Amino acid sequence: MSENSCFTPTTQLTFITTANCTAKCDHCVMYCVPGDKRKLTFEQMKATIDQYNKLSPLFLVVFSGGEPLLLGEDLYEALAYCDSLGILTRIVTNCYWAKDDESAERILRELRESGLWELNISCDDYHDPYVPFEYVKRAYKTSKSMGFSAVVIANSHSGKSKITPDYIKEQFGEDIYTKGDDDDDTLTDSRKKDGTFYMLSNATLQNVGRAREKISPDNFVAVPNQNLYTGCRWCVNHPAISPINHVWSCCGIQCDGNEVLDMGDLNKESAEDIMNRAYDNIFLVAIKKLGPMFLRDAALRIDPDLRFKDSYSSVCEVCQDLTENKDAVRALKANYFNIYQAIKAVEAKKDEQ
Ligand code: SF4
Ligand code: SF4
Repeated sequence: MSENSCFTPTTQLTFITTANCTAKCDHCVMYCVPGDKRKLTFEQMKATIDQYNKLSPLFLVVFSGGEPLLLGEDLYEALAYCDSLGILTRIVTNCYWAKDDESAERILRELRESGLWELNISCDDYHDPYVPFEYVKRAYKTSKSMGFSAVVIANSHSGKSKITPDYIKEQFGEDIYTKGDDDDDTLTDSRKKDGTFYMLSNATLQNVGRAREKISPDNFVAVPNQNLYTGCRWCVNHPAISPINHVWSCCGIQCDGNEVLDMGDLNKESAEDIMNRAYDNIFLVAIKKLGPMFLRDAALRIDPDLRFKDSYSSVCEVCQDLTENKDAVRALKANYFNIYQAIKAVEAKKDEQ
């Protein structure tokens, strides 16, 4: 990475461990379904952790999915391996395993003994048909005083949702520190007496992934287009490894086969080669610095006949609309140098201000 790069060395890595899940939520960003065979093995994850950790020390490794607990021993081994290297870990789970007190206690203990640092539990209207709310409550309550550093309930909701942060707090009979996606990253020190930081993550439903076909448009809150011209802090800085061992620019949307955001195949290339190519990729630089809306405008200037959505619920929705539009990507690739010049022009203008 050059000194002038807009990217920072990778300190956080996310494994989309599997496309297999016990649920088939209508809003699933990764299109996961029960029985999908795609998954990473412990050996693959270990090799990737070693490569990235050598490039720059990893601070946090996230195990998401699909449902990571379906990996069985491979998940516990990967957690323990990170722990042995001093790397913090998070799992994102739907809690299908908390069907009774005994199961909840046993799984949480195994996770804790494997060194898990943060338990992150998904809970909203769209998980509810597959994982009863009681399971989430049981997992949350059972995790108390088990020694996790953080326990987070991740809630995604629309104006029509039943399961909102307020509903969760009421049902849990507990006031839980609540933070939105756009809130300041600084955490207040609300660690409880048992040493654990409990939090409710409050996110607005996004019209990406499976939600595009399954959820009616009136559930999404449109963000005014002028507010969507914002660079993406996740792009390349927080890469994700897909269930088929590809490196994605982020975990915001499903990126296997995406011509812009699928950065390379770890089965064929080293992490170093993939990342070095990404650092020089002008489209990823543009998304990082100026955002996908900037690239969408650039594509429209090149070909005014391109068709995009009129409004969006998030920056990631713009990104998906743009990067999955093959004609738009073709137009941008054919005008690589013009995009480079456009980025420079915007930056020069910003410097003047
Ligand atoms: S949103 Fe989570 S729990 Fe639901 S299908 Fe996707 S991976 Fe599974
Ligand atoms: S804006 Fe694009 S690169 Fe950034 S997190 Fe969303 S999908 Fe990923």
